[in-house]
Amino acid sequence: MIDLHTHCFFSDGELVPAEHLRRVEVLGYEAIAITDHADSSNIDFIVPRILKAAEDMNKFAETRLLAGIELTHVPPQLMAKLTQYARELGAKVVVAHGETVVEPVRQGTNRAALEAGVDVLAHPGFITLEDAQLAAQKGIFLELSGRKGHSLTNGHVAKMAAESGAKLAVNADAHGPGDFLTTEMARIVGLGAGLTEERYDQIRSDMAAFVHSIR
Ligand SMILES: [Zn+2]
Ligand SMILES: [Zn+2]
Repeated sequence: MIDLHTHCFFSDGELVPAEHLRRVEVLGYEAIAITDHADSSNIDFIVPRILKAAEDMNKFAETRLLAGIELTHVPPQLMAKLTQYARELGAKVVVAHGETVVEPVRQGTNRAALEAGVDVLAHPGFITLEDAQLAAQKGIFLELSGRKGHSLTNGHVAKMAAESGAKLAVNADAHGPGDFLTTEMARIVGLGAGLTEERYDQIRSDMAAFVHSIR
């Protein structure tokens, strides 16, 4: 199992990175990204903290911790600047908080995030086919969310990915220990969005290839 979108207590999650990592290690995870909510105010605080955790704990854990960030409710005009800044700070996984139907995310956020070249567009709501095509072109993951509310449009996202050829990722968007997806629950999220078993297996190998490409 790999998850590219989770939160620890550096934003609104519950766990210190060490426990966060341990919780998924016992679930047999290969890798997990901690991607706390950030904007201009805290991005330079969070990324180095998670990098520090990863540097120490990756020596002793079966699960690889990846330092990431989730650019959250930032104006679309700032998306490119903050994506670049996240990478300069050393973030390995840049997630954008997409246009979920359960929050007033600014219109244009999906597009700006894709143009900025994030790694994962989280819960992109009613993403357009044009935007899904841009994701496909740029190799950016569209997310099927395991989180209540955000998951309402998973079926639509899966359909847009199928029509455009965009890659999909199944992520928990976990905020606490009860939120991590088991292998079986992640499969249910995928199949529940209408994917075939074959397509779901493709997701797992696309996510693994991405993780292996990170130095
Ligand atoms: Zn959150
Ligand atoms: Zn999130």
